[in-house]
Amino acid sequence: MSSLSDIENEIKVCRKCSLYKNATQAVPGEGGIGAEVFFIGEGPGAEEDKQGRPFVGAAGKFLDEMLGLIGWKRSNVFIGNVIKHRPPNNRDPLPEEIDACFPFLEAQIKIIKPKLIATLGRHSMHRFLPGDFRISEEHGKVFHRQGKFIVPLYHPAAALYHNALKQTLINDFKRLPRILEKIKNYKSENETKV
Ligand code: URA
Repeated sequence: MSSLSDIENEIKVCRKCSLYKNATQAVPGEGGIGAEVFFIGEGPGAEEDKQGRPFVGAAGKFLDEMLGLIGWKRSNVFIGNVIKHRPPNNRDPLPEEIDACFPFLEAQIKIIKPKLIATLGRHSMHRFLPGDFRISEEHGKVFHRQGKFIVPLYHPAAALYHNALKQTLINDFKRLPRILEKIKNYKSENETKV
């Protein structure tokens, strides 16, 4: 089985779609081994492309602030994206680009085995909750899909642009520790029932 660094190395040389041509470098994602929560954004922006790290621009600063609010450290969670190379001019990723890149994310999830996946923004949400889901209705709710617990959240960048969403996102964030506890209890109850 591959390790996280094997996957990272594959991402760095990936040519499965053309995004690498305009990007400075890939942004594979980062975080703690054994992270219980995996935050999944859309794709790298300008600053992430420059540094090769996820969520290090303005949206990342806000993400860090919200992690701080709930007492979580960046190094204890995993932070990644659906797309690993920056789309030109921050355009939305194309469906075929998302399809090409998704196996990397699946491989990362398989290794990290997060107890909770928090999607950031609608592109990430739609990848895990396909169908007619609207982020305005589903944000903050917990879904159980194929053995994974998923909570869709607004994207921090959207909350920075639309002030009205900011408090909503903060409120959803503040519920994450309790959601995680509930999932852990649910899992251990079901494990002991065997
Ligand atoms: N927005 C994202 O979706 N991902 C990043 O890494 C940075 C900004």
